[in-house]
Amino acid sequence: MQSTMQDVPLLISRILTHGSVVHGTSRVTTWLGEGEPHRRTFAGIGARAAQLAHALREDLGIGADDRVATLMWNNAEHVEAYFAIPSMGAVLHTLNLRLPAEQLAWIVDHAADRVVIANGSLLPLLAPLLPHLKTVEHVVVSGPGDRSLLADVSAQVHEYEELIAGKPTAYDWPELDERSAAAMCYTSGTTGDPKGVVYSHRSIYLHSMQVNMAQSMGLSDQDTSLVVVPQFHVNAWGLPHATFMTGVNMLMPDRFLQPAPLAEMIESERPTHAAAVPTIWQGLLAELTARPRDVSSLTQVTIGGSACPPALMEAFDELGMRVCHAWGMTETSPLGTVARPPAQAVGTDEEFAYRLTQGRFPAGVEARLTGPGGERLPWDGTSAGELEVRGPWIAGAYYNGPDAEPLRPADKFSEDGWLKTGDVGTISPDGFLTLTDRAKDVIKSGGEWISSVELENALMAHPDVAEAAVVAVPDEKWGERPLATVVLREGATADFETLRAFLAEEGKIAKWQLPERWTVIEAVPKTSVGKFDKKVLRRRYAEGELD
Ligand code: ADP
Repeated sequence: MQSTMQDVPLLISRILTHGSVVHGTSRVTTWLGEGEPHRRTFAGIGARAAQLAHALREDLGIGADDRVATLMWNNAEHVEAYFAIPSMGAVLHTLNLRLPAEQLAWIVDHAADRVVIANGSLLPLLAPLLPHLKTVEHVVVSGPGDRSLLADVSAQVHEYEELIAGKPTAYDWPELDERSAAAMCYTSGTTGDPKGVVYSHRSIYLHSMQVNMAQSMGLSDQDTSLVVVPQFHVNAWGLPHATFMTGVNMLMPDRFLQPAPLAEMIESERPTHAAAVPTIWQGLLAELTARPRDVSSLTQVTIGGSACPPALMEAFDELGMRVCHAWGMTETSPLGTVARPPAQAVGTDEEFAYRLTQGRFPAGVEARLTGPGGERLPWDGTSAGELEVRGPWIAGAYYNGPDAEPLRPADKFSEDGWLKTGDVGTISPDGFLTLTDRAKDVIKSGGEWISSVELENALMAHPDVAEAAVVAVPDEKWGERPLATVVLREGATADFETLRAFLAEEGKIAKWQLPERWTVIEAVPKTSVGKFDKKVLRRRYAEGELD
């Protein structure tokens, strides 16, 4: 029997129209470094997104399914591109501006981007790449920057403001198939070539609704969200779309992502929520410790992308900034779990432990654990296996060119279509995920597994330790053993014996798991999205060549 309900496609243009009318007075504020920040209402964004769509179609000849890339910081113009490009039926491709130039060129080529919209401040990165970009016909430049860098390029160069000026502020958005491509994002290619994930209108729409649920970020038009997570990192975790559904104001840091300007914008613009990876918050914490500021407005901080160290959560709690831990991947849009403790744990001793897990699966994300032999493991809170997920905003394949069959590598997708996350952990009977490690980071010592994350968290709880990353190094007797690389705080004096004793204290870490190899480093190398780059550490230390 058919339902009697209307079949209205879930389209990004509907999110845009809703946000710019119903929440027309909500604002996107962009930090400019000095002076008064730039402010634009959702209504203004809606009008300018329509103008941009007209310009892309009428002046640059962009049609259905054409890829339009952005090489931009988080700012109002990037939000306009976020809505204009998919709404008109084209595909938004956000470029990760921290990738090595070669990888970036590979990605643009692979996606066959026809247009790149770039911030002027990123032209030093883009200009030398352009001669190698075979498919790019147009470059649209927004914001301050040296245009003379583009003097010799063969692509046509346009000024964003000139291009959209005078265009109609309304657009007759097409009724698209909700399953068609809306946006794409490449994984950072930790193994082999980067892989393209293509989101649909439907997946983004449903994901945005989930982001807005009270058990997820649960924000409203009384909130202002400081969106530190880059718009090129899994759609800024869905915030630009989710905020247009509910009228949450956005505070965009543009290129001012260092701890000092972040502290300054929190004090002066008074956001209530913020989202970023742990390394950003470690930096902010050090800044606030050195130069205290009024950050009292910021009561909710979403942390994800890597495990949140317990010491960071505690320190933020003390500052009144309540951390909400979440897990996800490029392939999961990214929201996969959110760590809101269950009602019965609130106010009890168990609450903190629940908040430190990766969190609970929302409706819409199905999960299962698979053991080394492919067997299904129970949700008993102790059986550890690889996490597999499926759902309407989870990738089922990777992009392989417009005319090619999508890729479904066997190490990434099960035969029955579930995504193999490469993350290892346990699930409790009430659906809380605890990750012990990434499959490739786990230390396999004499047939037992040592969690690198557990060692790192324990080390980072020592007051002398600013950051710690643990990797496996080959060992004749045990196969692999942990090597601790440690960044000490300024003026700190702790030596390895002290840190080893600290780990062993009160049975924090089992004796056989304690590292016997240590090195002090100046900084933990980071990936393009600010996570610990253990690949680099492994290359540096796996042969045992310690500093
Ligand atoms: P990349 O794979 O290039 O690092 P992603 O942002 O897609 O880019 O990374 C997803 C991975 O990040 C997950 O598979 C997981 O290993 C890790 N991750 C994300 N959030 C968390 C978290 N809260 N705790 C632990 N690991 C996390």
